[in-house]
Amino acid sequence: MTGLIEGRTAVVTGAARGIGEAIARLLAEHGANVVVADLDAERARATADDLPAALGVGCDVTDEQAVDALVHRARAEFGSLDIFVNNAGITRDASLRKMRVEDFEAVVDVHLKGTWLGVRAASALMREAGSGSIVNISSLSGKSGNPGQTNYSAAKAGIVGLTKAAAKELAHHDIRVNAVQPGLIRTAMTEAMPPEVFAEREAAIPMQRAGEPVEVAGAVLFLASDLSSYMTGGVLEVGGGRLM
Ligand code: NDP
Repeated sequence: MTGLIEGRTAVVTGAARGIGEAIARLLAEHGANVVVADLDAERARATADDLPAALGVGCDVTDEQAVDALVHRARAEFGSLDIFVNNAGITRDASLRKMRVEDFEAVVDVHLKGTWLGVRAASALMREAGSGSIVNISSLSGKSGNPGQTNYSAAKAGIVGLTKAAAKELAHHDIRVNAVQPGLIRTAMTEAMPPEVFAEREAAIPMQRAGEPVEVAGAVLFLASDLSSYMTGGVLEVGGGRLM
C-alpha cells in the first residue's frame, strides 16, 4: 500500500539517521514531501538527497527561533504543513550518584522542551489550515523507568503528558497529537550501550529480538495518516511485547 499521505508535507526532527531517517523515508515512500531536520545540517541534506521529494535543513530543536523558522520553511517550500514528528533525541546515561545537573538539563532540553517547541510551532500553522497530525516519539523508558536514565525516563514520561494536554487543546481545530513509545530499537543510540546490557534487555522481550527503525516508522505513518483519523492523545507501544 502506498500513497497514504500523498502530497502532504511532513517535518521530521533528528531525521539525519536512525529512527528519524526511517520515518522520513517511509513518509516519503507514501507520497509526502519531507523536511529532514537535524542538528547536523550536512547529514540532513545528505539524507534528504536520497529521498524523492525532500529538503534537508539544520535545526536545533532546543532553539525556539530555529524551530519556528523550520515550520515556516516547510510551508514556504511545499505549500502546507500537515505532519510534524518530534523525534530528535539524545541520551546522557548515569546513575543518580554520578549524573551531573548538565546531563539532566541537556536531556530534558532536547526531548521535553524540544518537543514542546515543535508542538507549539507546528500547531500554530496547522490551526490556520484547520488540520494536522503531530507525532511525538516517547519511549517505553518513560513508562517503566530505566535505571541509569532518570533524566531520559522523566523527559519521555513528560512527552506523554504533553501529548495528552496538547491533544485536548487542539482537537477542535482538527489537529491530532499522538505519541509512540518504542522499546529496544537497533540504532546508533542503542549501539552505544554495553553489549551485555543490550543482550539482557533483548532477552527480556517476548518477541526475543530488538526492533528495527522501520518498525517504529510504521506506527508513525499510521498516526500521521487518515487511517488513525479518530485517534488523538494516544500512545502506541512498539516494543515487541516488552512491558505490556
Ligand atoms: P540517534 O541517536 O540514532 O538519532 C537521533 C538524531 O537526533 C541524531 O541525528 C541527532 O543528531 C539528532 N539530534 C540530537 N539532538 C538534536 C537537537 N538538539 N536538535 C535536532 N536534532 C538533534 O537516535 P535514535 O534514532 O535511536 O532515536 C530517535 C528517537 O527515538 C529519540 O527521541 C529516542 O529517544 C527515541 N527512542 C529510541 C529508542 C531506541 O532504542 N533507539 C527507544 C525508544 C525511543 P546528531 O547525531 O547530530 O547529534
